[in-house]
Amino acid sequence: MKVHNFNAGPAILPQEAVQEAAKAVLDFNNSGMGILEISHRSKDFIAVMDEASALVKELCGLSDEYKVLFLQGGASTQFMMLPYNCLPQDGTAVYADTGTWANKAIKEAKLFGNVNVIASSKDSNYSFIPKGYEVPNDAAYFHLTTNNTIYGTQYQDNIPTASIPMVADMSSDFLSRRRNFSQFDMIYAGAQKNVGPAGATIVAIKESMLGKVNRTIPTMIDYRTHIKDGSMFNTPPVFSVYVAMLTLRWIKKMGLENIEKTNLEKATMLYNEIDRNSLFKGTTAVEDRSWMNVNFVMNNPSLEDDFKAYAKERNMIGLAGHRSVGGFRASLYNALSIDSVKALVEAMQEFEKSKA
Ligand SMILES: *Cc1c(COP(=O)(O)O)cnc(C)c1O
Repeated sequence: MKVHNFNAGPAILPQEAVQEAAKAVLDFNNSGMGILEISHRSKDFIAVMDEASALVKELCGLSDEYKVLFLQGGASTQFMMLPYNCLPQDGTAVYADTGTWANKAIKEAKLFGNVNVIASSKDSNYSFIPKGYEVPNDAAYFHLTTNNTIYGTQYQDNIPTASIPMVADMSSDFLSRRRNFSQFDMIYAGAQKNVGPAGATIVAIKESMLGKVNRTIPTMIDYRTHIKDGSMFNTPPVFSVYVAMLTLRWIKKMGLENIEKTNLEKATMLYNEIDRNSLFKGTTAVEDRSWMNVNFVMNNPSLEDDFKAYAKERNMIGLAGHRSVGGFRASLYNALSIDSVKALVEAMQEFEKSKA
């Protein structure tokens, strides 16, 4: 590993998956063709798509009621596809507004029906996850974002329950910890945060969510099109699906429980240092701290450029905070090793000493 890659997405991937993918670019399955050059209708690629879908189901413990899709257009397209397919014109969808991405999802849903924003932490710059509300039982679905990539908050084991179908944008913490995935009727995630390269979006959806709106749905936007054709109605992002499949294999090999344990260890190590170090402080409510995206600032903001340069000299990449929060954001996705977190913690300790 040449650098410590704290990028928020696209982000670090398991090295063994990247190495295998690099080989496949030159020759895929001894076919004499690279993965970039094969037909998506070939037997070999259909096997990749089938394995990738099966691994999502297996790792999430989803029943056969769910269909797994690999779509394009990013998680951002799901903001629109979900209400297009599932929110009747005179119906209402319930959304929890916990950050930039949740807010974008709300904006799209409003194009298709009524939106009830049941809770929002917008007024406090999304520094916490609102709790203690009741989800109405007469809406089409309830949408939440499990991890707020930009603001660094995350539902822990306190995801609300609802009697209506629940939908989760899990883009930035999908398969980073165990969840009760079956609690949701639909889950979606852009692959590029934790599960693969950019270009593929994973959707797991129960068919019972579909066929409930009267509007005409364009073919490519209709989930039923992609379910019917096994994500092969049109040319899928072959390489992205392949690398996602390799990454899913790696997650299975490591074990989701072990991945969760390591992710908690990494996050705890960094938050402990943020809390101990006199120069730094966290930006979110302690109980809602994300294990994936750790946001922090300096008590003296004029030192931030210094620390940025200091970390850069130590080969740390991607630590700049999002412009809406400032300071720093360290993304600790599955493939980031604990050694990279140790290196960051040591840099923070040495920087503190250098200023004493
Ligand atoms: C990155 C991100 C998105 C947007 O994903 P795209 O694939 O770029 O459209 C949506 N939701 C969350 C939670 C994200 O982290």
